[in-house]
Amino acid sequence: MNLILMGLPGAGKGTQAEKIVDKYQIPHISTGDMFRLAIKEGTELGKQAKSYMDQGELVPDEVTIGIVRERLSKDDSQKGFLLDGFPRTIAQAEALENLLADMGKSLDYVLHVEVPKDQLIERLTGRRICPTCGATYHVQFNPPQVEGICDRDGSALIQRDDDKPDTVKKRLEVNVEQTQPMLDYYQEKGYLAEVNGDQDIDLVFREIDEKLQNLSK
Ligand code: ADP
Ligand code: ADP
Repeated sequence: MNLILMGLPGAGKGTQAEKIVDKYQIPHISTGDMFRLAIKEGTELGKQAKSYMDQGELVPDEVTIGIVRERLSKDDSQKGFLLDGFPRTIAQAEALENLLADMGKSLDYVLHVEVPKDQLIERLTGRRICPTCGATYHVQFNPPQVEGICDRDGSALIQRDDDKPDTVKKRLEVNVEQTQPMLDYYQEKGYLAEVNGDQDIDLVFREIDEKLQNLSK
């Protein structure tokens, strides 16, 4: 099961990814999470990525493709994977295709979660994440059992710097521009599967799950 999850920031990729990997036991490979972890750990990769991320710019393709290549070559990716936040450029999409071909693999689905833009702002500004396990919540739409505390590990939830209201609008604009060419690319290749993200979290998952079950038939 080789999957890509696409959608604008706030569409619910992280939320659905948690459910997909839980059920299908494939690794969730999020380039944004990998960069954030590298920055937290102060690695060389983190130092390279930080200046770009702080300015809301893309990390250069070479660096990004390199970490994805390394991650896909690990044992746990052999039975499948869920890519989230990658690819974001045509160069990355082409590199991925070559990488998979070299490994004798191909994509199954590019799941595109679509949500109207006015809702995305509300979702992003209310998002809270667990700095320890990466779990995602929303103050209103998906609150933890105890306010401000992760259900899984008890950590204090935080707001991402780039989820503050003034950066959210800019991020959405940049992302709309970046996403469309990716959608066109995968549409043409026949991998694109549209998912209605403008419904309850569980209903979005049901729609995705139905598509994935067709795969294993
Ligand atoms: P992405 O990874 O695409 O940026 P997230 O999964 O982090 O998006 O979701 C963004 C915010 O919206 C989070 O606070 C999340 O809890 C909330 N959210 C996710 N899916 C839904 C949904 N179907 N309805 C309402 N809120 C949602
Ligand atoms: P968002 O969906 O808000 O952009 P992500 O967590 O996916 O958040 O990414 C955060 C940042 O990490 C991006 O703004 C970018 O700097 C970097 N990044 C993540 N994925 C990629 C990628 N595929 N190519 C280049 N940069 C990336």
